[in-house]
Amino acid sequence: MSIYRRVFDDASLKNYRIVDLRSDTLSVPTDEMRKAMFESEIGDDVYGEDPTVNKLEVKVAELLGKEAAVFVPSGTMGNLLAIMVHCDKRGSEVMCGSLSHVFCYEQGSASSLAGVFVHKLENNEDGTFSIEAVKKLARGSDIHEPVTQLVVVENTHNMAGGKVLPLNWIEELSKVCKDKNLKLHMDGARVFSAAEYLKVPVSRVVRDVDSISFCLSKNLCCPVGSLLVGKKEFVEQARRFRKALGGGMRQVGFLAAAGMFALDNIVPKLKFDHEHAKQLAAAVDELKSKIFYVDVKNLHSNILMIKVADNDKNITALDLSNRLVEVKDEEIENGICDEQKKGIIVKSSCKNLQTLRVVFYHQITDEMTNLLVKKVSYVIKEFEK
Ligand SMILES: *Cc1c(COP(=O)(O)O)cnc(C)c1O
Repeated sequence: MSIYRRVFDDASLKNYRIVDLRSDTLSVPTDEMRKAMFESEIGDDVYGEDPTVNKLEVKVAELLGKEAAVFVPSGTMGNLLAIMVHCDKRGSEVMCGSLSHVFCYEQGSASSLAGVFVHKLENNEDGTFSIEAVKKLARGSDIHEPVTQLVVVENTHNMAGGKVLPLNWIEELSKVCKDKNLKLHMDGARVFSAAEYLKVPVSRVVRDVDSISFCLSKNLCCPVGSLLVGKKEFVEQARRFRKALGGGMRQVGFLAAAGMFALDNIVPKLKFDHEHAKQLAAAVDELKSKIFYVDVKNLHSNILMIKVADNDKNITALDLSNRLVEVKDEEIENGICDEQKKGIIVKSSCKNLQTLRVVFYHQITDEMTNLLVKKVSYVIKEFEK
């Protein structure tokens, strides 16, 4: 352990500036959003009588250019419901990417809860996978095989570093799916970031898919909530299954009001999160470090992966992550602090020993980004020594 390492307790943390980039789920409601929540009209949503939820579902369906939408507690439940509805035969098959949230982070619920077999397709670095593979591997004509019913894509792609799927790739994939009688679902947890990057309406991003789920609770500041969107019959069936999964909610107009507010007021500001990510990426790139690097050219949105090259010091992403939450006295002397001389703590998430993930969101301001850039640059230079 470094002799400089400070022991942080709750009291001492007050003396530091914390820039918490572990996830955009750390975004919180703004004062105006809280006001909108406080003032919302509510009712019992299981009876279909929460006016604010009803308004949100109509608004979202329109915004995405689909027939209907249903408010669900989480993105995980949205994806599971999509799988349950589209894969209506027990023992049927869903195809998804090897680095997708559905494959990696949902406890295999497609299998354990929905009775659906998961077929993993190797993800490319840009979040896509081989359309040829879908064509070749979709099955069901033979009595020995499961019946493939669904393909899931992720946009933006989390583990690919917030990459936005190319529109022509989605279009081509959707044609193959139609041809093979497969449904296409988009796990669009951060689909508004994709629209922001592409500078197109979000309805264009989701045009070619049968269903989409997206999160209000990621970079959109809402405390909780996701929407599942698609055709009317699809949404009706999802609403039924939502109740079976324990996701029937009562006076959630408070939460739907947060969602309405986010769509009008936070979505237009996503570009600032993207800019902040670029700012850090450019700073890291400029250091020309032999150990740490970023792919600035292919940075699309609010998720930045800082990669660690093989190095003779055996420095890992975990070392960087651990060092970023330390503050040394010399840092203050060297101006790595805010105006009140508070040291800077940067929290990040270590995805593996070669990859550190930082995620930007509404509460990470210009000023915090400047502090962050100072700290990260300082620490990387220190590792280079
Ligand atoms: C976070 C996330 C989910 C799940 O959302 P929860 O609301 O946390 O359940 C699904 N897909 C992707 C790509 C995500 O980033």
